[in-house]
Amino acid sequence: MSAVSLTQIVKRFGNFTAVHEMSLDIAEGSFVTLLGPSGCGKTTTLRMIAGLLDPSEGEISIKGRRVNDVPIHKRNLGLVFQNYALFPHKTVAENVAFGLNYRNVSKPDAQRKVAEALDLVQLPDLGARYPKELSGGQQQRIALARAIVIEPDVLLLDEPLSALDANLREDMRVELKRIQQRIGVTTVFVTHDQTEALAMSDQIIVMSKGRVEQVGAPEVVYNTPATEFVAQFLGASNLLSASCTDVSGSEINLELPDFPRFSIPKQRAPQIAAPGPVRLVIRAEKLHLMPAGSSTEGDLTVKATVENVDYQGQSARYFLRVGDHQLQAVNMIDEHPFATGAEVLLRFRAKDCAALPVE
Ligand code: ADP
Ligand code: MG
Repeated sequence: MSAVSLTQIVKRFGNFTAVHEMSLDIAEGSFVTLLGPSGCGKTTTLRMIAGLLDPSEGEISIKGRRVNDVPIHKRNLGLVFQNYALFPHKTVAENVAFGLNYRNVSKPDAQRKVAEALDLVQLPDLGARYPKELSGGQQQRIALARAIVIEPDVLLLDEPLSALDANLREDMRVELKRIQQRIGVTTVFVTHDQTEALAMSDQIIVMSKGRVEQVGAPEVVYNTPATEFVAQFLGASNLLSASCTDVSGSEINLELPDFPRFSIPKQRAPQIAAPGPVRLVIRAEKLHLMPAGSSTEGDLTVKATVENVDYQGQSARYFLRVGDHQLQAVNMIDEHPFATGAEVLLRFRAKDCAALPVE
């Protein structure tokens, strides 16, 4: 039985459809991320699961029970939002205990649960403080403690880390994942940040314009994007027009102007069933710059000109030209990046390329 399932969910606001016929099954105990750009319908979807918004069409079930008509406080969910403020006039312990007040938990039991939840978020000694006496990161941990103290069936997190500064955000990412694994709670996490999604999720649901583009494990959506949108959104990808010339063997053969002919494994092009025009996908970090004239026995290479360099310290982003193609490459650098105007060789591996149908 799925922890959460959505069947053909639609959400309209007046004439505008924010979520289009979305169906999803979220496995018990898994950490699932709704990933997509601002406005794609992530929060709307989460709010429907929570019971804060009614779907216009479709069914929502939690642990096999249809919940369309079940109000939020009877769904047994834990919620944390980016700005889900703590009650300012309650202590930390009172904030965390809040959800227990409505659940017939005895006072000693409540105290024990609150202490356990504060331990879990590694703030065992702050129960007597008030929210304004805590840092932003600590407040977010308390919000998390408040959400999990009720032992929810599902934890719903809407961009919970995005108000934190970069270093703290990375620490909290690890921390949140540790807590989720420790208590094993099914978690639906919303973010627009692809690195957060890749680092934390068992499954990523990539969304665009109110539709699901792809569902898969992080490596799957990263390595085998199902659409151009997914290829672009999960890390910088080069998308090049190419021709598929043969699909009869275990690999598919590709041709594109100025490149050597090469073939890629069929599993990197699951949607390509016949010869014809395709889009070749190659990630910026899979194109390696080498000085022109380097020896390249057996490797695939193509000559390129550096048109611009964006120096980033340990790495550099290169804007390159190969014939009529414009490409980007991100490479780690030793000391000096290649300079604008440099003629270079780009080395790449066929197994790092994927092919998509032309949209
Ligand atoms: P995300 O969380 O992915 O940034 P949202 O789910 O908040 O996106 O919003 C999806 C779309 O629905 C946006 O275009 C937004 O403007 C619209 N929308 C959200 N809530 C409402 C509302 N209450 N009334 C009208 N439009 C809304
Ligand atoms: Mg949102």
